[in-house]
Amino acid sequence: MNKEHATHLAGLFPASPAPQLKLGVLGFGGLGQAAARVLAPKQEMRLVAAADRKGYAYSPEGLDPDACISVYQERGSLGYLDPVGVLSSRSIQELIESASVDGYFLALPNLPNTFMASVARQFIQSGWRGVLVDAIKRTSAVEQLLDMAEELQAAGITYMTGCGATPGLLTAAAALAAQSYSEIHSVKITFGVGIANWEAYRSTVREDIAHLPGYTVEQARAMTDAEVEALLERTNGLITLDNMEHADDVMLERSGICPRDRVTVGGVVDTRNPKKPLSTNVQVTGRTFEGKISTHTFTLGDETSMAANVCGPAFGYLKTGIGLHQRGIYGIFTAAEVMPQFVH
Ligand code: NAD
Repeated sequence: MNKEHATHLAGLFPASPAPQLKLGVLGFGGLGQAAARVLAPKQEMRLVAAADRKGYAYSPEGLDPDACISVYQERGSLGYLDPVGVLSSRSIQELIESASVDGYFLALPNLPNTFMASVARQFIQSGWRGVLVDAIKRTSAVEQLLDMAEELQAAGITYMTGCGATPGLLTAAAALAAQSYSEIHSVKITFGVGIANWEAYRSTVREDIAHLPGYTVEQARAMTDAEVEALLERTNGLITLDNMEHADDVMLERSGICPRDRVTVGGVVDTRNPKKPLSTNVQVTGRTFEGKISTHTFTLGDETSMAANVCGPAFGYLKTGIGLHQRGIYGIFTAAEVMPQFVH
């Protein structure tokens, strides 16, 4: 390798990275715990804060993910984590006020459908500055956040929305695949999710039920655990979803890829088997400049879990967000607008 080439590569992959970024995870259910595990081996990022509905833990030196997960699973809240846990019904607000954090992954349920937007507003009103990333799913929920663009910008917050798997990884793949075409005819996302038991991802399952015909977000939110179990009993643990209200559509439209009615999302969730019921994929059909109609297909490996495909991209986009924030670029970005960076 000549010297010029080596210097060029060093610019792309700096040998001595910037100081470790301090991260927080809000929501410590299925995704929040997986996020703590994903972060554990990372050099560039350190988990310093985490919150659930009943409490939070904060340590500027870093939190031990195993200790956090066991205390949450055994006692129901991070607030019991000795000596840094605090029991509180205002865990998010107290962390915003007391913790020094560069960016938060919002692994929170969006129940009701306005919850994530209300959390973003809480950050704005507290005068907090930094980066937020979510893995929110519904079109109407992402639209509420997009409507807050100017407020986020004025507050000095860089908010990355729709940065999980779908929306997220698959939406970004669609935006990339679209580049081969002059016109995009359809984007079809089909997901397969396998989880060993529904209790590990209660909000994800409730929010999926809310997409079934005859259910609303409010109905799904109000269902007791016994009612969810009775529904899953009737379907043999499967939730089959068609034509979902999924924000991939507004994200691709906003990026100028295609009108939202050309984007469809559906899939199957097996709540009793970690094996995926089908391979998650996105198919992008369009017409090239020569007039040929073709389809690009991007398929996720069957061995990759929902948690891997959500948390990996979420932290990749968080890293991108931190780069934007450091350059004074605030406001809101979707997963289809910028590339995620790889976190080492
Ligand atoms: P979960 O039910 O397992 O956990 C939710 C956590 O949030 C719990 O720790 C709970 O205590 C905490 N919480 C709830 N209200 C709170 C509050 N007011 N303050 C602080 N903490 C609070 O949830 P999950 O299954 O991990 O799902 C989280 C979200 O991720 C859901 O909205 C789901 O739709 C989304 N998700 C997105 C994708 C994607 O690809 N984009 C995939 C899967 C899940």
